[in-house]
Amino acid sequence: MTSLSHAVCRRCGRCCEKGGPALHRQDRGLVESGILPLRTLFTIRRGERVRDNVRGTLESAEEEMVKIRGQGRGWCCLFYDSDLRGCTIYEHRPLECRVLQCTDPRELTAVYRTERLHRRDLLQAHSPLLELVEDHDRRCDYHRLAKLRARLAETGVRGREASEILDMVNYDHHLRRVLAEDGGVDPEQLDFLLGRPMRKTLAGFGVRVRKGEGGKVVLELELD
Ligand code: SF4
Repeated sequence: MTSLSHAVCRRCGRCCEKGGPALHRQDRGLVESGILPLRTLFTIRRGERVRDNVRGTLESAEEEMVKIRGQGRGWCCLFYDSDLRGCTIYEHRPLECRVLQCTDPRELTAVYRTERLHRRDLLQAHSPLLELVEDHDRRCDYHRLAKLRARLAETGVRGREASEILDMVNYDHHLRRVLAEDGGVDPEQLDFLLGRPMRKTLAGFGVRVRKGEGGKVVLELELD
């Protein structure tokens, strides 16, 4: 009997266009060898609202996921070449890509939630960068954000809850700028280190932020 993982790919590109894979412990060598540099990755942090491509639903991420970035602002995997209709790192494609069969997702479903790779697997233990990443997680906690968001309907956009959300968003924004401008961190690595900017991910919680007038980073909340 033919193994599912050896079924022939029709190279339609649909899987790759939906987004890059989440990485698993088995993919760690791809990052360490430079096939997947940190700037090609981004992190979905715990509690962030994300579309689950296997279930097709919007969910709160149960655990951290490190994924391959999309092209530009789109979701299509960074390594997909639409002219060639193929993967530019095919021989070294990550686990999820190797097991995915579009006609039968059982093998992907079996590995999807197992042994996911986390940032701490890729950053040196006790390094200042890892400490900073963990501190950012605590200050900009999505579970805390979800609780604050639930209370906004009662307290309104001028209440303490709204102000706490704004503090998180401002801190997240400020830290990115400091790391890139003063900390010598490659700006392309920020979405791996800190996850996607909270200004963008807030939309998943039904909250929006806008810049105020006058050039200052002044934010305001808008209830959906
Ligand atoms: S790594 Fe390759 S096979 Fe996997 S989603 Fe990206 S382009 Fe497709």
